[in-house]
Amino acid sequence: KQRNDHEPEFMQAVEELAENVIPFIVENERYYGKNLLLRMVEPERVLIFRITWVDDNGEIQVNRGYRIQMNSAIGPYKGGLRFHPSVNLSILKFLAFEQVFKNSLTSLPMGGGKGGSDFNPKGKSEGEIMRFCQAFMSEMYRHIGPSTDVPAGDIGVGAREIGYMLGMYKKLKNEFTGVLTGKGLSYGGSLIRPEATGYGAVYFAQKMLETKKDTIFGKNVVISGSGNVAQFAVEKALHLGAKVLTLSDSSGYVYDADGIDEEKLAFVMKLKNEKRGRISEYIETYPKATFVKGKTPWGIKCDIALPCATQNELNGDDANILLGNGCICVAEGANMPSTLKAVEAFQKAKILYAPGKASNAGGVAVSGLEMTQNSLRYQWTREEVDNKLKNIMSDIHKSCLKYGTCDDGYVDYVKGANIAGFVKVADAMLAQGVV
Ligand code: NDP
Repeated sequence: KQRNDHEPEFMQAVEELAENVIPFIVENERYYGKNLLLRMVEPERVLIFRITWVDDNGEIQVNRGYRIQMNSAIGPYKGGLRFHPSVNLSILKFLAFEQVFKNSLTSLPMGGGKGGSDFNPKGKSEGEIMRFCQAFMSEMYRHIGPSTDVPAGDIGVGAREIGYMLGMYKKLKNEFTGVLTGKGLSYGGSLIRPEATGYGAVYFAQKMLETKKDTIFGKNVVISGSGNVAQFAVEKALHLGAKVLTLSDSSGYVYDADGIDEEKLAFVMKLKNEKRGRISEYIETYPKATFVKGKTPWGIKCDIALPCATQNELNGDDANILLGNGCICVAEGANMPSTLKAVEAFQKAKILYAPGKASNAGGVAVSGLEMTQNSLRYQWTREEVDNKLKNIMSDIHKSCLKYGTCDDGYVDYVKGANIAGFVKVADAMLAQGVV
């Protein structure tokens, strides 16, 4: 605690896990007295580096780059890169820590890592984005590799940025390997990877509802964010017959009482992915919808909430409003979007609530499948990857039931995910000795 107290997001993630894992360790002699948690909270390696690049005005810009290599007990470090001005050590350590247990839950052989930069992609030209990505990789290339550390995308890093970084890696190393995931289809990417996190979160919500003999069909769904995860959460929710009422970005949210249908979603995808516009522009094309500036969408009445934007975007008050409005299910697409108070409120009310490390694991799972395809030099079809994704989400759900079902039948998905994720990493660490 002393060592990390100045890192609030990291402490939040550790506290959430420790609350479940410490009692489990105490009850299980195999794990007791080995200082496993103490070892897990300390990253194996933290890299911090200078990134210099030249902007369109010819001025030299300086950013800070990071890669947290958190835990490699069960496989090479694996986790995304985030480019956002809020990026700091605490945020990346929380993300890397969560990633360790999430990757373990997927049952694929991937350790945990995370990285990124405080670079702000908003308003940058194509050329500036490319030069920044190249500068980032010109340092990071020496620390990663297909059997060492395999980064991917996250906030501010999509297929475009992955392409530029892979290009630079290839040039510097003179080899073509699957060192990054989320690649374009023509150069080693996997079908369904862009869709995987959003689809996976909806598949997981569907599994949770099944435990109540219910489905997502006909439900009102509120979604935050309008990036990669949010877009494909909308798409899958629509496939399964739900009505999606909201989307958001950091400037506010849009509420469309008629529902965001496939045509409107196509508009949002173009707006966000090609024009790099703001969600407020939605109402210029669909004037029956409303835009609420500077607010999150949790006040809109719904059955299901899927937070898909960023950490701590849903607080205790928001949780109480959702509950008051009759929300029965919350599945996190983002990482740690609910504050500890919000989680407490959901659990007290005993609604279906899944933490990101379980419900958003679909993205990294398909990244794992991308690594497999790269190693095999082969490409699975859309259906093959989608089926594997569905099975992995279903298996994660089973693991949550195994460790999280309480005496009264309530499923504590936080506990289930934390313990199931912990056990595999702990077993591997014990087998490998003190290293
Ligand atoms: P994108 O960059 O594609 O989209 C992020 C979205 O969240 C944008 O709409 C963005 O709005 C909004 N957002 C970002 N920061 C804030 C903020 N501080 N306040 C309000 N809104 C914000 O990222 P992704 O969709 O890839 O990631 C979203 C979340 O999902 C993150 O928590 C990420 O860690 C998590 N995740 C992503 C995975 C993936 O495969 N991509 C896998 C697992 C988890 P704006 O454009 O205004 O910034």
